[in-house]
Amino acid sequence: MADIINLLPENIANQIAAGEVIQRPASAVKELLENAVDAGATEIQLFVNDAGKALIQVIDNGNGMSETDARMCFERHATSKIQNIDDLFHIKTMGFRGEALASIAGVSQVELKTKKAGEEVGTYIEIENSVVISQEPVATAEGTNISMKNLFFNVPARRNFLKSNASELRHIMDEFIRVAMAFPSIFFSLSSNGQEVFHLEKSSLKQRLIQILGNNYNANLVSVKEETDYLNIYGFVGKPETAKKTRGDQYFFVNNRFIKSAYLNHAVMNAFSDMIAKDSFPMYTLFIDLDPSRLDINVHPTKQEIKFEDEKIIYAFVESAVKHALAQYSVTPTLDFELDASIQQTDAVSKPFTPDKQNSAAATSLYKTFTQKNQAHFINKKSDLEYWETVFPEVQKVIHDKAEKSVSPAIEQNEENSFSTFRKELYQSKTNKSPSSEEFIQLHKTFIIAENENGFIVIHQQNAHERILYERFVNAMKGKPIAIQRSLFPVTLEVNPADAVLINELLPDLHLLGYQVETFGKNTFVIQGSPADVTEGNEKAALEKMLEQYKHFSMDVSFSKREKLLRSMAWQQSVKAGTILNKKEIASLVEELFGCEISNTTPNGKPVFLEFKKDELEKMFGR
Ligand code: ADP
Ligand code: MG
Repeated sequence: MADIINLLPENIANQIAAGEVIQRPASAVKELLENAVDAGATEIQLFVNDAGKALIQVIDNGNGMSETDARMCFERHATSKIQNIDDLFHIKTMGFRGEALASIAGVSQVELKTKKAGEEVGTYIEIENSVVISQEPVATAEGTNISMKNLFFNVPARRNFLKSNASELRHIMDEFIRVAMAFPSIFFSLSSNGQEVFHLEKSSLKQRLIQILGNNYNANLVSVKEETDYLNIYGFVGKPETAKKTRGDQYFFVNNRFIKSAYLNHAVMNAFSDMIAKDSFPMYTLFIDLDPSRLDINVHPTKQEIKFEDEKIIYAFVESAVKHALAQYSVTPTLDFELDASIQQTDAVSKPFTPDKQNSAAATSLYKTFTQKNQAHFINKKSDLEYWETVFPEVQKVIHDKAEKSVSPAIEQNEENSFSTFRKELYQSKTNKSPSSEEFIQLHKTFIIAENENGFIVIHQQNAHERILYERFVNAMKGKPIAIQRSLFPVTLEVNPADAVLINELLPDLHLLGYQVETFGKNTFVIQGSPADVTEGNEKAALEKMLEQYKHFSMDVSFSKREKLLRSMAWQQSVKAGTILNKKEIASLVEELFGCEISNTTPNGKPVFLEFKKDELEKMFGR
């Protein structure tokens, strides 16, 4: 029998191994940026074209490589960062496996220019499919300039797996941000298709965070800093009032390496508990430094999980460090601990946080707003819910048709059919539910009671308005754009670079929804006009809130961009619970609601009204 085992050619072996390290453009970005950091660079520029699919280039002013090293660096397991197994337990560099460049060379066309300090000439190497195509001396700046073109050009299956440019660029920005946050003393820039998206001057950590996360954090960062023999922790948390509905701005770094840890996240959330609403997320960027021998670094190169020798200690430490920081802030909320060290000597700060002080902090209105935020849903306890469900089959139906099985009129053609039968059903039953008299009562600035043929209905004003607006916006997309009211005084809107990319994507749809927004240089937009419903002066806040909500929806991948925009906008512009409505407003709300294609649920599947049937009511009264 013939022998059947072959050794794989090196380039194929490299392609297979590359799959572990380089899954998408963003993974290559991470590796190249980390190499530049490890090389001691003080300036690092990143250029991408087509979200990294066409080009990823990193230029650094680090140590550079000798001619031999420039050739060697593309070999698998070629690294200058460890020499023996002991070194593994004292890793101070970002890389150490010697796999990244070998992988990159296996799946793209690479050009490397590099020169060591003090050398006359540098080295140029071109490599493709793991094969060196040319190598020659070159005049180049000190440091390294590496470009990788046409990622996965030789692995079409992988190339086809890449997501849209918008999505791959997001991943790239995420990786870029994680490295840039960890090294504020290094200059970083990121340009996409020739346009500079980030330009981060060397700065303090605080300034770097503001550069990245946006100016609104300027007066809203609380410094965290604790040092012990076992570990140090430092960084910033956002003040409780800046907590958002999206998980977005939360970062942990261990020995300057970005990690994800649900466990440590829990520790921070615990420290914040009682200060923020249950469903909101505080910003944090925390750095934990500890002896590398207390970590298992031998985890997979692309995984962001980490194993600590003793997780419980770290948990307790993180929680108390954040609590301590927040306690100091809530006693003296206006002091900036980082900027003015002398203030730290004042009584309010240096004296311990006594139970007395704690109580007085808890009595402030700020504190109360947070804890009382989530009150009073009209069906509170599980037992109540079950009771209503048996009495009112309609309620049961509505409650079970949650957001996932949303009954909104789908905008996309393909979604249309699945809803049509259900929609018809609703439509038919609509007429006998709509109010039969013109008399409405508003209760608790939230509910509207209306009599109908079968009994009465209780309408939730905000849910109703969300439904009305949503349908109006759906129609706007279908060719009835919302009228734009030009602002007398156009307002500028400054956002962080990631949000700027998002707004640019949404501009055409925003226009249909009545917002005339124009780009005005990098990360800045001018709001030239807004829908008539938005009062002058509120345009900016309205758009900001809408974006916030949009990002909240972004965690749900099943909606199209447009659908998310419509839902966010409907939520943002809806009249909120707690608003007094006059008779005319109530009447038109009710009228418009029952003119909707679907009137009984919000776009997200919450009930808009509950029907209380006369005969059921009679029964309850023993009649
Ligand atoms: P690792 O970073 O794990 O050592 P890499 O494959 O990323 O492995 O890089 C291999 C080697 O190439 C590094 O150990 C380093 O010596 C060298 N190298 C890579 N990038 C640079 C750079 N930008 N500047 C100087 N040397 C570099
Ligand atoms: Mg590396």
